[in-house]
Amino acid sequence: MKQEAVPFWKTKALAKMTKAEWESLCDGCAKCCLNKLENDATGEIQYTDIACRLLDTELCRCVSYADRKRFVPDCQILNIQSIKRLTWLPSTCAYRLLDEGKELFWWHPLISGDPETVHEAGISVRGRVVSERDTDDLEGRVVGWPK
Ligand code: SF4
Ligand code: SF4
Repeated sequence: MKQEAVPFWKTKALAKMTKAEWESLCDGCAKCCLNKLENDATGEIQYTDIACRLLDTELCRCVSYADRKRFVPDCQILNIQSIKRLTWLPSTCAYRLLDEGKELFWWHPLISGDPETVHEAGISVRGRVVSERDTDDLEGRVVGWPK
């Protein structure tokens, strides 16, 4: 009987993944592309439902991913160091899950084989955010669901 191959994210440490493997881990939820507020006193990070101006809020994709730092200098590039530092990454984020030794959810495109399941499961920002091109009312748009 032919044995199923064990998927790469179960056999490789994050630090050993190829660039293509690393990129494929992103589920496309775009929650990390939401603007956040930091409490100066406590350091607590709160999400808003206002998306970065480069995010296509329907497709949940960055419109200038390759050169995003040129347009949004504070866009956080995820790597093995930053996923430990960025404690605000959502609990559903694949990088965070794997770094914490957890499993990917059924709706992750690598599990389901379908990039739409992250949207169908209500995990992504699709349909529930506005662009920062349309509002700057950060304090008025604090939300808890992205965490
Ligand atoms: S939160 Fe994680 S999985 Fe979701 S878009 Fe950002 S990097 Fe990708
Ligand atoms: S520049 Fe692109 S990847 Fe970075 S936060 Fe904005 S939309 Fe997301």
